Amino acid sequence: MTRSEVLFEQAKKTIPGGVNSPVRAFNGVGGSPLFIEKADGAYIFDADGKKYIDYVGSWGPMILGHNHPKIRQAVLAAVENGLSFGAPTELEVKMAEKVISMVPSIEQVRMVSSGTEATMSAIRLARGFTNRDNILKFEGCYHGHADCLLVKAGSGALTLGQPSSPGIPEDFAKHTLTATYNDLDSVRAIFEQNPESIACIILEPVAGNMNCIPPVEGFLQGLRAICDEFGALLVIDEVMTGFRVSMSGAQGHYGVTPDLTTLGKVIGGGMPVGAFGGRKDVMQFIAPTGPVYQAGTLSGNPIAMTAGLAQMDALCEPGLYDALADKTKRVAEGIKAAADKHGIPLNITYVGGMFGLFFTEDKAPMTSFAQVTKCNMEHFRHFYHAMLDEGIYLAPSAYEAGFMSMAHGDAEIEYTLAAVDRIFAAMK
Ligand code: PLP
Repeated sequence: MTRSEVLFEQAKKTIPGGVNSPVRAFNGVGGSPLFIEKADGAYIFDADGKKYIDYVGSWGPMILGHNHPKIRQAVLAAVENGLSFGAPTELEVKMAEKVISMVPSIEQVRMVSSGTEATMSAIRLARGFTNRDNILKFEGCYHGHADCLLVKAGSGALTLGQPSSPGIPEDFAKHTLTATYNDLDSVRAIFEQNPESIACIILEPVAGNMNCIPPVEGFLQGLRAICDEFGALLVIDEVMTGFRVSMSGAQGHYGVTPDLTTLGKVIGGGMPVGAFGGRKDVMQFIAPTGPVYQAGTLSGNPIAMTAGLAQMDALCEPGLYDALADKTKRVAEGIKAAADKHGIPLNITYVGGMFGLFFTEDKAPMTSFAQVTKCNMEHFRHFYHAMLDEGIYLAPSAYEAGFMSMAHGDAEIEYTLAAVDRIFAAMK
């Protein structure tokens, strides 16, 4: 047995399923998860001392690569001053100013400690502000595990085959209406049936929890128009895409202005952080200025703010996003070329620092949840384990996006493509 396998068996005795978040258990690909000891640059190292080129990046935030010296040094210095105060700090002001300077639609922002908290709070705020109960989300989009959002969800919920969870009363779930991603007609039909009861639409602007599905042209703008017509708020969930797809998020990349934005992972540089922000008149509706309650003991934690600020400063370096997008394109197009060469049916998507690989005969652009669910899971599982054997770590589920970092250099990209070529040659 490997050390990872021994640790997994030990973990299962004290932690449900041996993991603290379900996808980590490898149920989607079979086998035993790697236990990670450390990470540096483009690499993670498991408990058996094997190193892997990492295309998970802690599920998105490690855009600069792991253990970036500037972030590490900033955190070590901040630790000297204490870990948490439960009182305002200048760091929080700097973080708010930084986020607002990068995302034009955000006029005010509140920090929380996870993406789930961010989306849950944004939904409560949208409901309070509009005085409406229903919300509209898209099948296959994941927004964390708040009750109202765990309905037809993506990510781990989809990997486990339980996109809606037991434990959520029907009385709650009935307020979550679900439409089809990239299908404006399905959205309009729901609004026409419920013209005055929908508080908001929430969506991933690039869906990254049903693999990687970019929005079709006009989709985001169409949602904006429908929200305006029916008096609902548009909530763009950039927990994954924020500061990964572009410096101003996917909303900047696609040119759409939401009322509220949720952020997570990336703004903590790897620390547990989330945020929600947007129009000032809406944000003023939360406590203590407004009636909608929202709070958090560790919100705006000084160590997390320090890590996040150091990362966001580094992300503002000119040319960084072009370089990130170029690396992503090289990997995604390179994998596609290898698949074509060996006759393996594969479709790809990529945008900014995210990419998707779909083992499917479908040659049309991947735009829908329905296309994703028809992919060949056996091919993915085989490919996944072959990549692990080659020392390349992908997300252990066919429903997750791949993530690129600035630490992935020519050597890592060339190694990845050579490994993929060997794997596809053998898969023929
Ligand atoms: N929203 C999106 C788009 C996500 O991808 C995730 C997590 O993957 C969340 C919300 C929830 O974030 P967290 O896991 O930090 O609660």
